[in-house]
Amino acid sequence: MKTYLEFPKLFKILTAALVLISITTVMVCAGLNEGVKYNLQFKKDGTFKIVQFTDVQDGPDIDQRTLRLMNKVLDFEKPDLVVLTGDMLDGRCKSVKDIKKAIDNVAQPMEKRKISWAVVFGNHDSEQKAMTKEEMLKAYMSYPHDLSRRGPENIDGVGNYNLLIADSKGKKPVFNIYMLDSGTYATGRVGGYDWIKQSQINWYRENSTSLKKANGKVVPALMFFHIPLPEFKTAWSKGDTTGARNKAECSPIINSGLFASVMEMGDVEGIFVGHDHTNDYVANYFGVKLGYSRNVGYGTYGKKGFSRGARVFLLHESDTSCFETWMRLDSDFNNP
Ligand SMILES: [Zn+2]
Repeated sequence: MKTYLEFPKLFKILTAALVLISITTVMVCAGLNEGVKYNLQFKKDGTFKIVQFTDVQDGPDIDQRTLRLMNKVLDFEKPDLVVLTGDMLDGRCKSVKDIKKAIDNVAQPMEKRKISWAVVFGNHDSEQKAMTKEEMLKAYMSYPHDLSRRGPENIDGVGNYNLLIADSKGKKPVFNIYMLDSGTYATGRVGGYDWIKQSQINWYRENSTSLKKANGKVVPALMFFHIPLPEFKTAWSKGDTTGARNKAECSPIINSGLFASVMEMGDVEGIFVGHDHTNDYVANYFGVKLGYSRNVGYGTYGKKGFSRGARVFLLHESDTSCFETWMRLDSDFNNP
């Protein structure tokens, strides 16, 4: 029995190996040239759908109606991304175990369906003292389909980041989602709710500028956080609105100027928040939509006869300069 390879056979094997190495090298280089691999991209039909859930605001023993509603909305709308805009949990969580259970409650509807999701914090999330925001964010990020990120550590807040959405070919970013931590309560002389800090506004401006530079044009965006800007009230009073305003806006007393930067950068088409559970209006303010989603959580306050729900956004790759949005309510399912 021969223990060596004949020359022609050896030559063939070496040639095959060389070809394989070359192909791999070309593939790796092509990958490097193409740069970033995008987690999110427009579907082949040219659309991208986002569902906003806000103010679940519950503890480890979540109200089952909240989960039923989240599941129904996801099955009906089939979104490509879910954003949770704060107050996922509240002071009913007394221990690390409680918090992890509360986080798991809100994670499951998306995880079971393999839908990408991302969170920002509200004022109630850090009411409990068992876990810091950093620790909670790590817990969210441990889920396979969660796209939340810590964001820069040298600016205010935990979880200021952006999510790029690539075109349907997955080649270049054509839309952007800003996620900001709008804080909790203002300390010192002012009181009331926190305002978005200058360091966060600077981060937004730098991000927006570098995206514009890299892509040769403004990359249109939506912005999500928890507490409404003071401009919401002014926008509502101007009257170009749809939806409900059942309570006065609980905005910060100080206007730190994020909206002025949004005007100057020209990329953000809409700013959407939660916090005021029974508001779901969208107000046009100098071409930017300032809007709410009413809350999804049954374990916290609402208004009699005002159904819980979620906000839906539909983007079109063919024209990213605008977007469609509507509320999907629990009453839509109960009264078909
Ligand atoms: Zn709130």
